[in-house]
Amino acid sequence: MQSDNASYDTLIIGTSPLAITEAVYQKSLKRAVLNIDNRGIIGGAWTTIKHQGIPEVEIGCHIWEVQKWATDFLTAFYNLQLAPLDPPPRLFKKGVSIPYDWKMNLSTSKYIASKCSRLKFKELKAGMKSPARRLTLLPSKYLYPRGGAKELYLRVLDKVKENDLNVRLNTSLETIDLTGSDCKVELSNEPNVLNSDRLILTSLSDIKKIMFEDGTEMSPDTKQVDYIHLHLLVTGSIPRKFSYHRLMDDDTIHRVSDMTFQVREELNDGQVLISVGIHAKTYHAKSQKDLLDSIFDKLKKRKLINKDAKLDAHGFNVFPSYYTRPDLLSKIEELSKGKITILRSTSFTFSFHNRKKQYQTLV
Ligand SMILES: Cc1cc2nc3c(=O)[nH]c(=O)nc-3n(C[C@H](O)[C@H](O)[C@H](O)COP(=O)(O)OP(=O)(O)OC[C@H]3O[C@@H](n4cnc5c(N)ncnc54)[C@H](O)[C@@H]3O)c2cc1C
Repeated sequence: MQSDNASYDTLIIGTSPLAITEAVYQKSLKRAVLNIDNRGIIGGAWTTIKHQGIPEVEIGCHIWEVQKWATDFLTAFYNLQLAPLDPPPRLFKKGVSIPYDWKMNLSTSKYIASKCSRLKFKELKAGMKSPARRLTLLPSKYLYPRGGAKELYLRVLDKVKENDLNVRLNTSLETIDLTGSDCKVELSNEPNVLNSDRLILTSLSDIKKIMFEDGTEMSPDTKQVDYIHLHLLVTGSIPRKFSYHRLMDDDTIHRVSDMTFQVREELNDGQVLISVGIHAKTYHAKSQKDLLDSIFDKLKKRKLINKDAKLDAHGFNVFPSYYTRPDLLSKIEELSKGKITILRSTSFTFSFHNRKKQYQTLV
C-alpha cells in the first residue's frame, strides 16, 4: 500500500441516490465526506443509458415499494413529480396473476404465524414495524417519478452540485484496514490509500477484504449479480395495458415494464418502449438473436404487445451489482466496532425509511 495523507471524516461507497443522500446528511454534520464509485458515472442502479437515440432511458425494470415516509421524503428532497403506476403492478405465478403487493401478505402471514407459534409476541410487535410487513387486500398505489429514473438521476446530479460533494469515479475500494485507530482503505488508483473515521457501505457494495482491529481478516464472498435487460422500441398498441409485471413463471423473463410514459415526447406516434429483465442463466445460454425472437414471441403471447407489432429497435444492457449475505453484513458491522456502517439497500424506498431518523433533518 502506498501511503497518502488524504483523510476524510466519512468515506461512502457508491453514488446511488441513497449514497448521495447519505453524503448530504454527513455533510450537514460538518463532516468532510468523499463518495467513491468504481463506475464512470454517478447514480448506481438509477443511472440511465442511451437507447436508439433516446438520451436517458432507465437501465431496467424498477419499482418503488410502497412506503409513505420514504416516498414523501424523496419527493421533497429531490423535488420529484410522482404519479401512480397505472394499472398497478402485478405478479404472475403458475399462470395466476395477483396484485404485486399481495406478495407481502404471504411473507407477512408467514412471519406472524412463525412468531405466534413460538409465543414471541414482543418480537412480533417489533417486527411488524418493518415496512416489509404489510397486510392489504386492495392494490396499493405504487408511485414512481413521471420521468422515470432520468428524473431522479438528474436531481441526484443537482444535489451533488448544490452541496459541492466530493466524488471520485472510476475508483474501486479494494481493502479495508481497521487495525489502527481509524479506517484505512486501499483504492484501485492514486491516491490509493485514504484514511477516515468512518466508512459507509451499502448492501450492494463489493467488499473484497477487511482486516479487523483484533487482527482477524474477512473476505465475505461478495458475488457479482448481473442485472440484464432488453429494451424494445416497438410500433403497435399494447392490447392489455400494464405498468410492471413480475413473472415467477418464466425461465427467460423475470420482469417487464412499460416505460412509454417516461419518454413519450421522444417516441414516434404509435411507438412504445418496453424493458424486459432477463434471467442471467438464459441470457448466457442463448444467442442474442434467439433471445430477442423468443422474448418478442412471449410478449405477444402474454398480450403485452400486439400480434402484428413491429420491432423498430432493440438493445441489451448488463448492469453489474454485488451481493453479500445479510448475516455477513451484520457481522462486519459488529466486528468493526462502529467504524463501518452498512446501509441496507436491497429495496429502494425501505433503504430511505431505515434512515428516517437521520434524513428527516434534511427536509
Ligand atoms: C439493477 C438494479 C435494479 C434494482 N431495482 C430496484 C427496484 O426496482 N426497486 C427497488 O426498490 N430496488 C431496486 N434495486 C435495489 C437497489 O439496491 C436500490 O434501489 C439502490 O440503488 C441501492 O443503492 P446502493 O448504493 O446500495 O447500490 P447501487 O445503486 O448498485 O450503487 C452502488 C454503486 O457503488 C459501486 N460500487 C460497489 N462496490 C464498490 C467498490 N468496492 N468500490 C467502488 N464502487 C463500488 C457500484 O458499481 C455502483 O455504482 C435494484 C438494484 C439494482 C442493482
